[in-house]
Amino acid sequence: MSKKWVYLFDEVAQAEAYAGDWEGVRTLLGGKGSGLADMTRAGVPVPPGFTITTEACNEYRKSGNFPAGMWDQALAALAVTEQKTGKKFGSPANPLLVSCRSGAKFSMPGMMNTILNIGMNDTVVEGMINLTGNPRFVWDSYRRLVEMFGTTVFDLEDEIFEHPMAAYKAQKGYKVDTQMTAEDWQALVAEFKSLFKKHVGEDFPQDVYKQLELSTKAVFNSWMADKAVTYRKKEKISEDLGTAVNIVTMVFGNMGNDSATGVAFTRDPSTGDRKMMGEYLINAQGEDVVAGIRNTDPVEKMGETMPEVYKQFMEISGRLEKHYRDVQDVEFTVERGKLWMLQTRNAKRTGAAAVKIAVDMANDGLISREEAILRVSADQVDFLLHPQFDPNAKRDAAKSGKLFGKGVNASPGAAVGQIYFDANTAERMAKEQKQNVIMVRPFTKPDDVHGMIASQGVLTSEGGASSHAAVVARQFGIPCVVGASAIKINLENRTMQSAGVVAHEGDWISVDGATGEVFLGRIPTQQPNLEEQKDLLTLLTWADEVCARPEIRVLPTGEKSRGLQVWANADYPKDARRARSYGAVGIGLCRTEHMFFEPERLPTVQKMILAETSEERTAALDILLPSQRSDFDGLFDAMNGHPVIIRLIDPPLHEFMPDEEKLLEEVITMKVKGETEGLAAKEKLLSAIKGMHESNPMMGLRGVRLSIAMPEIVEMQVRAIFEAAADCTLRGVVVHPEVMIPLTGTVNELKWIQPRLERIASAVMGEKKVNFSYKFGTMIEIPRAAVTAAEIATLAEFFSFGTNDLTQMTFGYSRDDAERNFLVIYVEQKILPVNPFQTLDREGVGKLMSMAVNDGRKTRPNLEVGICGEHGGDPSSIEFCHMIGNNYVSCSPFRVPIARLAAAHAALKHAGTSVAEDK
Ligand code: PEP
Ligand code: MG
Repeated sequence: MSKKWVYLFDEVAQAEAYAGDWEGVRTLLGGKGSGLADMTRAGVPVPPGFTITTEACNEYRKSGNFPAGMWDQALAALAVTEQKTGKKFGSPANPLLVSCRSGAKFSMPGMMNTILNIGMNDTVVEGMINLTGNPRFVWDSYRRLVEMFGTTVFDLEDEIFEHPMAAYKAQKGYKVDTQMTAEDWQALVAEFKSLFKKHVGEDFPQDVYKQLELSTKAVFNSWMADKAVTYRKKEKISEDLGTAVNIVTMVFGNMGNDSATGVAFTRDPSTGDRKMMGEYLINAQGEDVVAGIRNTDPVEKMGETMPEVYKQFMEISGRLEKHYRDVQDVEFTVERGKLWMLQTRNAKRTGAAAVKIAVDMANDGLISREEAILRVSADQVDFLLHPQFDPNAKRDAAKSGKLFGKGVNASPGAAVGQIYFDANTAERMAKEQKQNVIMVRPFTKPDDVHGMIASQGVLTSEGGASSHAAVVARQFGIPCVVGASAIKINLENRTMQSAGVVAHEGDWISVDGATGEVFLGRIPTQQPNLEEQKDLLTLLTWADEVCARPEIRVLPTGEKSRGLQVWANADYPKDARRARSYGAVGIGLCRTEHMFFEPERLPTVQKMILAETSEERTAALDILLPSQRSDFDGLFDAMNGHPVIIRLIDPPLHEFMPDEEKLLEEVITMKVKGETEGLAAKEKLLSAIKGMHESNPMMGLRGVRLSIAMPEIVEMQVRAIFEAAADCTLRGVVVHPEVMIPLTGTVNELKWIQPRLERIASAVMGEKKVNFSYKFGTMIEIPRAAVTAAEIATLAEFFSFGTNDLTQMTFGYSRDDAERNFLVIYVEQKILPVNPFQTLDREGVGKLMSMAVNDGRKTRPNLEVGICGEHGGDPSSIEFCHMIGNNYVSCSPFRVPIARLAAAHAALKHAGTSVAEDK
C-alpha cells in the first residue's frame, strides 16, 4: 500500500504509531488536525472529517502535484465521512458540505486559507432549500462559497465581491446583512458567478470534487503566501513544516435563532484571570465573529439564550483545559440546538497572562513548577518590564480633555506614536522614517500584520477581544485597544474623529492597552515596579530555586554543579540598587571610566591626562581619589554581602578630551578674529590631542596597555577600591571586591601590572587594619587571551568574557561599522544566522570561550567565570554560558529578570545531560 497521507479524525492511534509521539502527531497533522483528532478521542462532539498531512503538503510544494495515492485516500476518507454523517457529497437529496481548513503545527492565526461550504452547486442549492425550508440561509451560504472560492483559490481581490455587495445593499437601502432576503442573496449569487467568470475566465465549478481538489491545493499554496512567510519569520517558525489540510463536515451556525457560532478563551488571555471570556453571535457563521465585523454578545449570555447548550459548553471547555493542562482557545457552533466543537488550541496570551496562568496552574497542581517556568518565554517577561504610563500624567491628560475614546483593553502596555491609517504606510513610516507609529483601522485582517508588527500600538474602532487585531497584538506583545466605537475613522480623509475632535494622519496619540483608553498627544511613561508583580516574583523565585539545585548541571568536565547566577552591569549605586531589587546577586562589571565623565570631574581628568610629569599626574589623581572612593563605597553598600567586580580604566584617553575638529575650528576662528586671550592654552591643548591621535584607537593604547604606559591612574583606582572596601567593612558592610584588568592579551601584561596593584591592596588593608576577601582577575576580550587562558589563569583568579570586544576581534569587525554597513545584508543573505553582537556566535566566539573556561580551570580549578558583554542578557547566549560552565552571567539591571528566567530555562533544558568539551 502507498504511504498514508490521510487520517480520519478517529485514526489518531494510527497517526501516533507512525509519528512516534504526540509531538510527531502535531508535526504530521498540524495543530488543528491533531486537536480535532484528540478531541474526537476524548469524546468531545466534533464534526466528522479527516486530515491530509503536512508531509503531503511538502511533497506537493516540491512537485506541484499531489503525491501518488493521496487523492484516492482523500476520496476514501470522504466516503467514510459520508457514512458517518448519513449525507452524500454533491447529492441534492441530502448533501454533505465540507470546509477545507489550513492547520500548521504552530498556529498562524488568519495567515493561511480556509474555504467553507464546499459541495454546493446549482442543483445542491435546490435540494438544500427543500431540505431546510430556509432559502435565505442556503443562498447566503452559496454566495459565501463563490466569494471565498474566487478570493482564495483564484486570488481575486476582496473588493471584486465586496463593492457590488455594498452597492446592492445601498441601492436597497439596507444597513446590515441581516436585512438581505433570500431573493437578494439569490440575485447576488448570480452576480458573483458572473464576476467570477469575468475575472477567472471560466465558470464557477459545478463539479464538487473539483471544488475540493482546488481548495486543497489553495490551502497548500497558502503556506508560501507573503503574509504567512512574514509571520513565520517573525515567529521563528520553520519554513519546512508545511501545513496540513483539514476537511471537516460543515455545521451551520446560521440556520436560525436556535443556531449560533462563537469563540472563547477558558481564561482571560489578557490578564490571565480565571474567567471564561468569549463572544458569540446567534444565526451567524464563524468568520463573522473572528473578523470582528458584527457586534457580538459575551458568551455568558448564552446562559440565558441557550441554557442547556451553555451548560454543556462550559463543561466541555473545562474538560479541555484540564486535558491539555493549558488555557484553551475554542471555536464552537450550535446547529439547531446541537453543540459542535470545531477547534481547540492553547490560547495566545499576553506576558502578564502567561505568568499568572503558569503560576496559578502550578499552584493548583495542574502543572509542575518546572513546567510553569518553561511556559513563560523570556520575551514575555521582557514585555512585562516595558514602560507603563505615568498615572499622574494620565490623570492630567484626562482632566485637560485629552481622553479621545475608550475601547476594549485587548493587549496591555503603553504605546505612544503617530497615527497612520493603513498597514503599508504604518510600516513605511516606522521603517524608513524611524517614527513611532500607531496603526489605526476600523478592523484588521491578516494582510495588515506587517503594519501591526512595525507599530508601537494598534487601535481599531470595531471588533471585540477575540477579533483579529486583538489576537495578533496579544501574541506579539503590541499594546492594543479594539472596538473603540465612539471613534469614527474616515479612511478617505485620513482622519479619525470623536465628540467633534478630529485627529489627522501623523498626529500623536497615546494608547493604554491595559485600560482601553486612547488619549490625544504624548503621555510620558515610566518603568513598572517589579515589587507589584507578585506572580512574576513568584515565578522568578522558582527559577532561582531551579538554578540553585546543586546538581542541576553536568559541567564539561563531568562534574556536577549548580546552574548560573545572574549578576548585573552597574556603574552607579542607584543602578546597583535596582539590580539588587531585580534579583542580581553580584555586580559583574562596573565601568569606572563613566565616573570620569561627570562634568565636575572631567577638567581634573583632562589635567591628569595632559600632565607632563608623574608628580603633576599624581596631584590630579589625588583630587580624583576621594570621588572614586565614594563611588565604590556606594556600590559596596548597595551590594552588601555580594561580589562587586570593578574594571580598571579601559578606553583610550582621547575619549576624555575635547573634540579635535571643534577645537581646531575654535583656534582658527580666534586667529581670524585676532583674539589672543586663551589662544595659547587652546593651541597647546590642540597639539596635545594631535599627539594622542591613533589610527585605530580601539586597538591602540587602551585597557591594560594604558595601565602599563601610565600606571598612576590604576594605582589610584585600586587604592580607591580598597579604601572604600575597608571603610565599608569597618561600618559592618560585607564586601567582596574583585578588581578586573581589561583587554589582556598576554600573561606578561598581568605579570607586570598585577603585583603592583596587589601591593597597594595589601598596603591599604594594613593601613586600615582590616581584612576581607578579594580577587584580581581579567577580562577575556582578545582571542589570544582565550587561546592562552591556561597561562593567564596562573595570575587571574577570575575570567569575565567581554564578548563585545571578543566578538569584534574574533570576526575582525568593528561593531559600529558592521552594524551600520553590512550586518543587515549578512543576516538577510544568511551569511550569518543572526547579528553576532546580539546573540553569541557559538561556533566561533563560543568555541574560544569554551576553550578558555576549560584551559583556565585546568590551571585553577576554582576559577570563577562570567560574562559581562551585551550577550549576558540574551537568552540564547545565556544558554550557551550555562553549557560551557560559566558561574554567572552579568547584564543590564533591566534584563536581570529575563536572565533569571533564561538561566532556569537553560538549566531545565539541559538538566542531567552532560555537555561535551569544546562546543
Ligand atoms: C566587552 O567588550 O564585552 C565589554 C563588556 O567591555 P566594553 O563593552 O566596555 O568594551
Ligand atoms: Mg571591552
